[in-house]
Amino acid sequence: MFRKDRIIDRFFGYVKIDTQSDPKSNSTPSTEKQWDLANKLVTELKEIGMQEVSIDENAYVMASLPANVSHKVPVIGFVAHFDTTPDFTGTNVNPQIVENYDGGDILLNEEKNIILSPEYFEDLIQYKGQTLITTDGTTLLGADDKAGITEIMTAMEYLIDNPEIPHGTIKVCFTPDEEIGRGAHKFDVQKFGAEWAYTMDGSQIGELEFENFNAAGAVVTVEGKSVHPGYAKDKLVNSMYIAQDFINSLPRLETPEHTEGRQGFFHLTNIHGNVEETVLEYIIRDHDKKHFEARKKMMKDLVAEICKQYERECVKIEIKDQYFNMKEKVEPVMQIVEIAEEAMKELHIKPIIKPIRGGTDGAQLSFMGLPCPNIFAGGHNFHGKYEYVPVESMQKATEVIVKIAEMTANKYKK
Ligand SMILES: [Zn+2]
Repeated sequence: MFRKDRIIDRFFGYVKIDTQSDPKSNSTPSTEKQWDLANKLVTELKEIGMQEVSIDENAYVMASLPANVSHKVPVIGFVAHFDTTPDFTGTNVNPQIVENYDGGDILLNEEKNIILSPEYFEDLIQYKGQTLITTDGTTLLGADDKAGITEIMTAMEYLIDNPEIPHGTIKVCFTPDEEIGRGAHKFDVQKFGAEWAYTMDGSQIGELEFENFNAAGAVVTVEGKSVHPGYAKDKLVNSMYIAQDFINSLPRLETPEHTEGRQGFFHLTNIHGNVEETVLEYIIRDHDKKHFEARKKMMKDLVAEICKQYERECVKIEIKDQYFNMKEKVEPVMQIVEIAEEAMKELHIKPIIKPIRGGTDGAQLSFMGLPCPNIFAGGHNFHGKYEYVPVESMQKATEVIVKIAEMTANKYKK
C-alpha cells in the first residue's frame, strides 16, 4: 500500500536536517535551524496538494485536506513535532538500513564498537524479518518524531491520490519545541479548527495513549542559623538536618524507582545546601487527580509540622502545577479513542493501551480545547544513539491514519 522505499526516502530527508531544540532559549522556535525543516515541510505539503498551507511566526506548520463527502463529518487533526531532544546530538544523522533483520546483534559503529543488541533491547526480537532503520552510533535518529511526520505526510498524499476513500476535513500540524515541553504553547487551536486530533508520537506499534500524569514541581527551602561551631551550643540550627527530616518523612517507597503503572511518586531531583540554607527540589506525579492533590497536601502538612516542631517558620514550600492528566478531557469524548482502537483492530494491529508515565503535547492541547490522544509512530529507544524504527511500523501507522479518516467519515454517515 505504501511503498517502503518512498517512506524511507521521505524519512531520510527529514532526519538528515538537524532540528535539535534548546531549553535555554526563550524564542520560538528555540533554535533557528528548526526553520530549515519547517520550511521544507511547507513546500512538501503544497507539492502533495494540501490546501491552506501556512507557517506562522513561531514555525507552526498547518495544512488542510478538504472533505470529499457531502454529509457532515467532524473535522479531525493529526499532529507531530519536528524538533529533536536536546539530550543527544542530532547533527549529521547518517541513518543505516538493516534489511530482513536476522534477530541478532546490529553493529552500529565498527570503529567505536557500538552494538544494538536484542540481549539488552528485547523489543528488537519482535521485528525479526523486518526492515530496520538505525543510527550509525554517533547521533540519535530522530524517529521521535520525524517518523510521525513521515506517516502523516504519506497518509495525506495517499488520501489525495485515492479520492475514492471517503473522509471529512483533515487538519495537520507540525510543531517545534515539543522536546523542551513547549510544543503546544503557541499552538493556535482556534486556527487549527479541529474537533479532536491525534499526536503521532508514541513508540512501539499498537501504542494508544490517553492517560498521562498530573504533574507539579515543589521547591522546599529550609532556613537554618549559622553560628561559629565552637560557640554553637543551643544556638546553631543546621538546615541540612532539618531537610533530612523532611526527606525521611515522605514515603520512601513512593519514588520513581519503586513505582510503575498507575502508581504515583515524589521524586527528589536536587539538593543544594549549607548550614544556613538548604533547598530541596521535587517533582510530584500521579495519574489520579485526588491522589495528586493529596500528595501536594502531604508535603504542605509536613512543612507545617516541622515548623511547629522547631517553633519557627524554618521551612517554606512553593508548589507549581506543571500539567494535568488528559484523561478528564478525553473521557467525555471517548469515541475518539474507540475510533483509533477500531482502526488498529481492522488493520490487525493489537492496540496497547497504557497510561503514560510522563506528559505529552497532547495533554496540553487537550486542556487547550483540543482533545488529543497519542498514537504510535513506531520508533524505539528515543533520545539516544540506540534509537531505531522498523519501516513496517511506519507503514502501519500510516495505514492507521488513513483508516481513522475513513472510519470517521463512515461513522457519521446518516
Ligand atoms: Zn516525541
